[in-house]
Amino acid sequence: MIEKIGKDLLDRITKLDKFSLYELDDYIHSLIGRRVTYIQRPSKCGQPHCKKCRVEGIGHGLYWFAKFRHEGRQHMVYIGKAKREINIMEVMKKKKEKKQKSKKRG
Ligand SMILES: [Zn+2]
Repeated sequence: MIEKIGKDLLDRITKLDKFSLYELDDYIHSLIGRRVTYIQRPSKCGQPHCKKCRVEGIGHGLYWFAKFRHEGRQHMVYIGKAKREINIMEVMKKKKEKKQKSKKRG
């Protein structure tokens, strides 16, 4: 692999700061697509008197979740009962918008 990339380019990549590496990471994945793992697992509703969550401890579901890395961090997003493919850039954009909204509310 190193031979194909070339030592010069590798050296330059190694010297990049974290932020530039994330940018490079995004660029590479815009070419090849991100790897997303789809998993099925139960979900807990968080309601205090739920029998399935609080008493039996089994939760609800199964539900689909998507696991992926973005900007160096692991993320897991809820999909639902039916499996569908997600677009990471769209998901992250929505997450960001949500965060900003909750910030405005205080
Ligand atoms: Zn529950």
